[in-house]
Amino acid sequence: MRPCVRASEVADAYGGNRVLGITPLADGILTVYSDEKGPHADTRIAGTNWIAYTGDGLSGDQQIRNGNRSMARYQAEQRALRYWHKPYGGQWSFETWVVIVECHSRWGRGEDGKNRREYVWVLAPVASPLRENWPQEVIDALNEDDGSMHDNTLDMAPREVGETPVSDRERYRRLVAAARRTRAGRTQRSRSVQVDRYFRSPAAREAVILRSGGRCENSSCAGHPTELTDTGAPILEVDHINDLGRGGEDVPESMIALCPNCHALKTRGTNRQGLRTSLLAIARTRHQAFAEQEQCSPVGSG
Ligand SMILES: [Zn+2]
Repeated sequence: MRPCVRASEVADAYGGNRVLGITPLADGILTVYSDEKGPHADTRIAGTNWIAYTGDGLSGDQQIRNGNRSMARYQAEQRALRYWHKPYGGQWSFETWVVIVECHSRWGRGEDGKNRREYVWVLAPVASPLRENWPQEVIDALNEDDGSMHDNTLDMAPREVGETPVSDRERYRRLVAAARRTRAGRTQRSRSVQVDRYFRSPAAREAVILRSGGRCENSSCAGHPTELTDTGAPILEVDHINDLGRGGEDVPESMIALCPNCHALKTRGTNRQGLRTSLLAIARTRHQAFAEQEQCSPVGSG
């Protein structure tokens, strides 16, 4: 298909209302547009070729209306829609047919800079609109999907600009509570490990970074535990000590902040099994120390 440069050219060639987002073309079939340079760039979910597509609405909580209402209808009817994509620096072109296999909500930031709840539609690419051509994993996902929304906003909302700061320990306590709420909300509804990984708890990750104090948490670290980037940020990777796919949990006591060297040792080193065991013990000890200190130090002292 001929790539198109502008929304108006897409509309001239295929119809539609000249507003890129979620909109039907002239033949009535719904089309979604995904711009890699946009403020709400859509992403591929690691471990799958599925797409996390941010819903319709630029500021404020997104609602099931306009484009999102159309998406909900296509999800309920299990109909294929068109996915157009514009790579960074590239041009608009039709990329693939997709079907909606899940609907999630999560915290995002609107164009007005404020936190808001947004929809994320999980799109599975398919070869054609004909169901008999769809891969079995897509059929399975559709059969498992009851159409209800997976709510990832139980996790803590990101801090608003100008919000009154609290002590590190109080912040840690709140983040741990948020991560636990997210975990509790998942045990019954979790279907696809990879999709859950994508929507893992931002609160759990932030708690681990806070607990680390900007330093690799491996007590036998021989790398560069306090190295910083040009912007002064620590070079740390937050790791699920047991992989999420193998029963690892999205809570701070099962996670650890590692420098890139320790992370590589833990992932690819010959002693990775032993390291995994000791890192689990370190994470639990540090978590308890951080959480317990909270009880005997006044809020605000942190
Ligand atoms: Zn390290």
